[in-house]
Amino acid sequence: MIKLGRLAGFSAKELEKFLNAFELCKLVMSTEAFRFAVEQSKFTDTKATGAFVYHQLMGANHTVNFQISTPPWYKRWLTKEIAREVTGVGVIFNRDKFMNRDLASLASTIAHEICHTASYTHTFWESPLRNGSVPYKIGYMVEELARALPKVNEVPEHLAAIESTNS
Ligand SMILES: [Zn+2]
Repeated sequence: MIKLGRLAGFSAKELEKFLNAFELCKLVMSTEAFRFAVEQSKFTDTKATGAFVYHQLMGANHTVNFQISTPPWYKRWLTKEIAREVTGVGVIFNRDKFMNRDLASLASTIAHEICHTASYTHTFWESPLRNGSVPYKIGYMVEELARALPKVNEVPEHLAAIESTNS
């Protein structure tokens, strides 16, 4: 069960977008496709099987916390980081870079954070090792699956054509 914990520093508009991304993340993680993908996977940061990782992510309670905490420009300037996990809280350093992404990309970050709350970690520097860790790999999976979800609210093309001739 994935629950939303503390969210701090968001404007009303940012909060709305974040909540939509959170729902998308939960939706993707509840699909059979996600279960299949995780169960087939191997990870660099754990010897556990994909089935075990899936069970751990979906079977326990995980609470995600996010906080937008923009440091002064001279501190931000030294790092390219968008966010960092600090004792269970995803601390967002660069609000614009973080929020100016589509929902699938935000859902990926949320999934990454869920993996941290399930105590999976990764190395700091970018490497194949880091990309194969549970947080990164699950994050990529959620983003990919979110982009592949059928657009349920889209009017099918043939119906859209009828609507436009009637109006
Ligand atoms: Zn991380």
